[in-house]
Amino acid sequence: MTATTSAATPVRTRFAPSPTGYLHLGGARTALFSWAYARRFGGTFILRIEDTDLERSTPEAVQAIIEGMQWLGLAHDEGPFYQMKRMERYREVVGQMLQAGTAYHCYCSPEEVEAMRERQRAAGDKPRYDGTWRPEAGKTLPAIPADRKPVVRFKNPIDGDVTWNDVVKGPITISNRELDDLVIARPDGTPTYNFCVVVDDWDMKITHVIRGDDHVNNTPRQINILRALGGTLPEYGHVPMILGADGEKLSKRHGAVSVMDYPAQGYLPEAMLNYLARLGWSHGDDEVFSMEQFCAWFDLDHLTKAPAQFNPEKLNWLNNHYIKLADNARLAGLVRPLLEKDGAVFDGAPDLAGVIGLLKDRANTLNEIAAAALMFYRQPAPEAALVEQHITDAIKPALAEFAQRCATVDWTKEALAPMIKEVLAAHKLKMPQLAMPLRLIVAGQLQTPAIDAVLQLFGREVVVVRLQAYL
Ligand code: GLU
Repeated sequence: MTATTSAATPVRTRFAPSPTGYLHLGGARTALFSWAYARRFGGTFILRIEDTDLERSTPEAVQAIIEGMQWLGLAHDEGPFYQMKRMERYREVVGQMLQAGTAYHCYCSPEEVEAMRERQRAAGDKPRYDGTWRPEAGKTLPAIPADRKPVVRFKNPIDGDVTWNDVVKGPITISNRELDDLVIARPDGTPTYNFCVVVDDWDMKITHVIRGDDHVNNTPRQINILRALGGTLPEYGHVPMILGADGEKLSKRHGAVSVMDYPAQGYLPEAMLNYLARLGWSHGDDEVFSMEQFCAWFDLDHLTKAPAQFNPEKLNWLNNHYIKLADNARLAGLVRPLLEKDGAVFDGAPDLAGVIGLLKDRANTLNEIAAAALMFYRQPAPEAALVEQHITDAIKPALAEFAQRCATVDWTKEALAPMIKEVLAAHKLKMPQLAMPLRLIVAGQLQTPAIDAVLQLFGREVVVVRLQAYL
C-alpha cells in the first residue's frame, strides 16, 4: 500500500487491547505502529478497550494499559471506548442482521452442538455447525423447542473464498467452507468477541487494522460479517509476534515483558519507543531516530514478515544513547526517587544534575546511574582492610599537603588536576598512590570516575572535613 491510496480517506487506526493483564511489549508495539500510521497521515488514533470477557477483564488492567500508553507518550485522539458500554449498539446490530436475514436463531442446545461435532470427528470430518437452523429457500426448519433460548448465528457464505491482501503477510485466501456459521450472540443476548470487533471497526470507521498475527484466523470471519453489514473493508496488517533472544515466544522467563517494568528498571520511554519501532520494521540501516522522524517515515510496506527477536543488549545500547542525550535536570528528577529508596541524604550534598553529568556516559539504565551516584549522598564507610592497605603512614604527608592546598586552590577540576600532580611530584608518588586514598576517604570506595571531577563535585568543604578525619 502506498501513501496515496490512503490519502483519499482520512486514516483511522485503533489499538484494541483486552484488559486482562499488563500492557506487554507486543501490545505496545502494535499500539506504536497504529499510532505512528495515524500520525504520519494526519489521521486519528483510537483507543478501544475490549472488556467483554468479564471473567478475565479487570479495572487494574485497564489502568495498566493506560499508564503504559502514557509513559510511552502514545496519546489517543478518540476514546477510550469500552465495549461493555456499547452493548445496546451490538444488540441493535444483531437485530438488524436478523431482520436482513444475514443472521438467524439457532435453537441447538450446547449438548446437541457437541454431539454434532463428535459425529463429524468420528467420520473424519472437520467439526462445524451443520446448518440445522440455517434458513434456506424452500427449507422447513425444525419446530422450536419449548423453553430454549436461541443463540444468533451469522449466515456465513457457503461457497467461495475470503481473500485479503494483508499489508504485512501478503495475499491470504481462506475458503468459506472452512468457516462455521459463527455465534454472534449468546442465549442471554450478549454479543461475542468477533462480532463486537466488527461493529466497532465499522462504527469507528477504522481504515487500517494493525494487530498481532494471533488474530489472522479471526479476519476472514470478521470480513464476512462486515460485508454482510455493508461496511467498507479496512486494510488488515498482521504483525508477527516478538520472540525472546532464544527464539522462544517472549515470556516472563525472558525478564520483563510488561512495558511498565521498564521505567521501574531505569529505561527511558524514548529508548523503548525507538527500540520497539525497529522491532519488525525497518528504514534502511537507520537504528536511532526520534518519534518525529519515525512518524514521518513509518509505512506498512517495511513491516517484516518474520518474527522479531527481542535483544536486551540493543535496548541497553539505545537507552545509554538516550540517557546521554537527555537533559541532566530531567534525569535527576527520575534518579532522585531511586536514591531516596537507598537512603540517600541530599542536604549539603552535590547537585544531582551535576553528578549525573559525570556518570551518565557509562550507564545503560537510570538504576545504574543511581547505584553509581549513591557515594555522593551517604557518609563514606570504607572497609577497614582497604583503609589499612591504602592510607599508610608513607602516604599521609602527601595527604596532609593535599589537604592544606585544598584551602586555597580554585575548586575546579582544571585547577585540582595540576595541583594533585604537584603533590605527587613533591612526594615522589604515582597517581594511584594518592588517588586511591582520596577515593576511599571522600567517597568510601575505590571505584569512582576521575578523581579531579569527583572532588570538584563533592565540594571543598566536604573534602577537607573528610580528609581531616584521617590526618
Ligand atoms: N482485543 C484483542 C487483543 O487484545 C485485539 C483485537 C484486535 O486488534 O482486533 O488481542
